Amino acid sequence: MITRFAPSPTGPLHLGHAYAAILAHDMARAHGGRFLLRFEDIDRQRSLARWEEAALADLAWLGLTWDAPPLRQSDRLPHHRAALGRLWDLGLIYPCTCTRRDIDAALSAPQEGAAPGPDGPPYPGTCRARPRPAAMPEGVHLRLDLRRALARIGRRALAFQETGPRHAGQITLSPGHFIDRIGDVVLARRDFGTSYHLAVVLDDAAQAITHVTRGDDLFEATAIHVLLQALLELWTPTYCHHKLVRDDAGRRLAKRDDARALSRYRAEGATPADIRRLTGL
Ligand code: GLU
Ligand code: ZN
Repeated sequence: MITRFAPSPTGPLHLGHAYAAILAHDMARAHGGRFLLRFEDIDRQRSLARWEEAALADLAWLGLTWDAPPLRQSDRLPHHRAALGRLWDLGLIYPCTCTRRDIDAALSAPQEGAAPGPDGPPYPGTCRARPRPAAMPEGVHLRLDLRRALARIGRRALAFQETGPRHAGQITLSPGHFIDRIGDVVLARRDFGTSYHLAVVLDDAAQAITHVTRGDDLFEATAIHVLLQALLELWTPTYCHHKLVRDDAGRRLAKRDDARALSRYRAEGATPADIRRLTGL
């Protein structure tokens, strides 16, 4: 068993991070497995080295140990671009020059009532029919051509094993689910050259993660990840989507909520055991 904790170094770790990290760590330790770290720092504008250092100090203070130096997602960009190149050669991605406003204008009003998918309402497809440049372009969004992707998958079942409390069991994903809720997702952002969805899939595979533990807010995004694993011929790990730690008013803890920063509890004299208790562990 190999588990991971994969924070974005864009702010201090708070109680929600502590919960996710301890869960993944303890799970690996209970099974004689390995626990790894990864900094999801593809957003170069918002990621800061000082948040990485602070996170490592907090994790060590919690008593967690990890079995390899942390992987930095930004170091993996060449691998992300290589995978995009493979998808490009298969004709499965296309450039998109739409702005947020273009997309909102192209989506018709009935979207309002419908629950948006993990990345909002499916993209209306404006750029899909444009002539394809000969080489994969840089500096534009690259989107998955969902219908072509599904055609490539053919009759293979898309499914994953979920062990989290809310959805435990085998989750099977139908083509209709992808068409209604996922659509042509962005796999490379014009500003990053990669995306969360692509990076998480490639880097979980590179770290040979067998059990992905993460917040319930990412449950819906797993469909995208399973599809990408199938297209890129990667193995699908087991997923455990856990509860989100909420404040006393039931609100999700946000990164900016520095009042909940672990360092704050630490400074006020809390012990790692207190943190476990506060997160319900
Ligand atoms: N980097 C994400 C976060 O900070 C976690 C991504 C994942 O676990 O898939 O919440
Ligand atoms: Zn477009």
